[in-house]
Amino acid sequence: MTPLEYDRRHIWHPYASLKDPPPVLHAKSASGVEIELADGSRLVDAVSSWWCVAHGHSHPAIVEAIRRQSEKLCHVMFGGFTHDPAVELAERLAAIAPRGLDRVFFADSGSISVEVAAKMAVQYQNALGRPERNRLVALKGGYHGDTSLCMALSDPDGMHTLFKGIMTKHFFAEKPGIPTWGEWDAADAESLRRVVEEHRGEIAAVICEPIFQAANAMNFYHPGYLREMRRICDENDIILIFDEIAAGFHRTGPLWAHERAGISPDIMTVGKALTGGHMTLAATLASAKVAETISSGRPSAFMHGPTYMANPLACAAACASLDLFAGGDYAANAARIERQFREGLESLRGRPNVRDVRVLGAAGVVEVERLPAQADVSRVIREHGVWLRPFSNFIYSMPPLVSDEATVARIVGAVADLASCPPGPPPEDGDFHE
Ligand SMILES: *Cc1c(COP(=O)(O)O)cnc(C)c1O
Repeated sequence: MTPLEYDRRHIWHPYASLKDPPPVLHAKSASGVEIELADGSRLVDAVSSWWCVAHGHSHPAIVEAIRRQSEKLCHVMFGGFTHDPAVELAERLAAIAPRGLDRVFFADSGSISVEVAAKMAVQYQNALGRPERNRLVALKGGYHGDTSLCMALSDPDGMHTLFKGIMTKHFFAEKPGIPTWGEWDAADAESLRRVVEEHRGEIAAVICEPIFQAANAMNFYHPGYLREMRRICDENDIILIFDEIAAGFHRTGPLWAHERAGISPDIMTVGKALTGGHMTLAATLASAKVAETISSGRPSAFMHGPTYMANPLACAAACASLDLFAGGDYAANAARIERQFREGLESLRGRPNVRDVRVLGAAGVVEVERLPAQADVSRVIREHGVWLRPFSNFIYSMPPLVSDEATVARIVGAVADLASCPPGPPPEDGDFHE
């Protein structure tokens, strides 16, 4: 059996069947913006391997940091121990985090950091003598991860209906409708205000992906919404959680997407580009007020602790990644990629299969009536040498933030070609896409 044959029969891929699974490519190595396949061909990674490879693959500085750390300490349990990479990373995250978010919980994936954020909010309310405040409010069109608590906070009409039976019911406000570049009208947050006022006695926190609802809706919304959200949370003594896992680290331009709104959350999650796509790591940052309130409750301990918490190799990779962010002008890179995406993708409006074109920072989205057939997707990937992973109704690119002009031009060519293909067959009933 070839490796690909074994893979096809025995190994699940994300959101894939083991019966007649969709094709997978055989990656051998990757450097810079390119992935090299077993047959020697190369593909530009136009989705940054799910939005984490910010500085390019196998970046020498990050690889060297992991190598050096591996000679000293690959892992030690975080219960009862600490180590330099964790302390350095916590200090550095606190220094760049929004004001006051300097208490750090390290998690081993984005989903876990969201679970931790939600548990913090519940323990916070419990410490204040309000144990009945144990639900969250989330936004339709949102995505917060695949574990059961995260699923329960993601769009209720989305991909998780199958698991309704094992999910706690939270509250949802309508998807924000005014785009980032639109004219703000407070009516857009009316649904959020209504949900919070109706259920305030049961609500621990409000959670959202600030500015950019990525994995579910590819929706860019107005900073005014976040200001209104902050106001509603303050008026009702509710914790505000920003999930910056997708949008953080300059994906939409500024370091944190919520900077556009000029307000801060009480808790923030980061992941994905934290290590520049070299190790799995995430973190939940909390304000002193949240941390001190939890710590003065019963129990005073915060009740979470993953096995690989604060893995030293991952923390070292993250420190090296933060060095790169600090040493380069990533906001300028994102602005340049945004310009190129605008110029290249706006002209696709009006094509038969194209519903909308949206661009913000280093994220370019073409919303289509129906995705092209898999054969067309495979052809475009091969012919342009550009890896794209369309899903739901979206053909999109979120390339490494270091992509140069020629690379972005190639990506634009591939996206345009794909968006010009005829719509493929409708998805099978109940079949999922990603
Ligand atoms: C990807 C993502 C997560 C989940 O992160 P994992 O590392 O896949 O568990 C959570 N929230 C947002 C906004 C994400 O984009």
